[in-house]
Amino acid sequence: MSATTPFQSPDQLARAAGLTSLKASPRLPVLFVGHGSPMNAIEDNVYRRTWQSLGPSLLARYGKPQLILCVSAHWLTRDAWALTGMAEPRTIHDFGGFPQALFEQQYPAPGAPEVASELALRLDAPAAHQPVQVDAAEWGLDHGSWSVLKPMFPAADIPVMQLSLVYSRPAEEHFALGQQLRALREQGVLIVASGNIVHNLRALQPGAAPNQAYDWALEFDQHVAGRIESGDLQALTRFQDLGRVAQLAHPTFDHYLPLLHAAGAVHDTEMPRFFNSDFQMGAISMRSVIWGEA
Ligand code: ZN
Repeated sequence: MSATTPFQSPDQLARAAGLTSLKASPRLPVLFVGHGSPMNAIEDNVYRRTWQSLGPSLLARYGKPQLILCVSAHWLTRDAWALTGMAEPRTIHDFGGFPQALFEQQYPAPGAPEVASELALRLDAPAAHQPVQVDAAEWGLDHGSWSVLKPMFPAADIPVMQLSLVYSRPAEEHFALGQQLRALREQGVLIVASGNIVHNLRALQPGAAPNQAYDWALEFDQHVAGRIESGDLQALTRFQDLGRVAQLAHPTFDHYLPLLHAAGAVHDTEMPRFFNSDFQMGAISMRSVIWGEA
């Protein structure tokens, strides 16, 4: 599945390994988390409960990660990929029309400026020919990150860095960047990609049961799950081959792209395990994946 792409070479992978600001570690798993409604951050529901048990179980099995690298659907940069590089990333409330309690949420995890500087130099931004930028002031932690990390790791004592999406670049490049992140898993980095496998806000059906979804939502979700189960992860980049079904599942595909970063960081032999595999409001797949559990 992980045939090399035109954008990535063994040299480039080697460059992404061995950051001096991180220590070698046993290999950590890779997570893709369907985040769904921002309310999942504070509502007692099955998704949040799963996150609340997953975090402690990861800590018990692997110890505390040195860093969480989060690829969120909600940070899009225009020309170049970017890493957050502030020491104290702010909690961003990038949504509207929700209760005050959600706006009061804070996730004061530290950043990792040194790692950001080092990683930005070593990552080879595929084909965009733009060096990876370090954002030391603007962004922070958007709700794609903190809404899942807060339930998972409520102590907020693990440094968190976000990696942006460059929406204008093709899916293959997002996957190729994920491949460069793979080596970080052996340097104490927990990769958490946060989006949704199906995400169509225009088609939301409030009140729909978790097992109710549009036919196109079920079809796209099942297609993606099949590729993941068979280990054909590179094929995830060709999601637009599904035509109308893909367009309905992702009128814009910002929530799909983080899956490609996660999938790129997976080794050939690693098995997936799904969790939260149902739908929120009929048009958001909450299906989440963890690869490489020891
Ligand atoms: Zn979202």
